Amino acid sequence: MNEKRTCLECGETLKGRADKKFCDDQCRSNYNNKANSDTTAEMRNINNILRRNRRVLVSVVKDDGKGKISKSKLQDKGFNFKYFTQTHTTQKGTLYKLCYDYGYMPIENDYYVVVRWGKE
Ligand SMILES: [Zn+2]
Repeated sequence: MNEKRTCLECGETLKGRADKKFCDDQCRSNYNNKANSDTTAEMRNINNILRRNRRVLVSVVKDDGKGKISKSKLQDKGFNFKYFTQTHTTQKGTLYKLCYDYGYMPIENDYYVVVRWGKE
């Protein structure tokens, strides 16, 4: 009946109240910080893809905040079309996909327009 309970963070044997899960506040906050941080491999992977996508879009855009590139060139640069952060539909009904603050939209002949998303 005397089950040995251990701290969820450091594994130390716990004394005291039966509902105790950590030896002290430090262990509790370490444990909670880990649980809340974006440390899963899958999340890191997706974040890296999104960051790379944004870097590619940045490289396409000229000083005026716009650019144009073919689909195959985007792919050569390592752009991943499966991942984007949000979509935006303009008043004219054009759908842009965005990676953070850069958007892109397919146009004719397998080309894409890329725009830096300024304040509108
Ligand atoms: Zn502990």
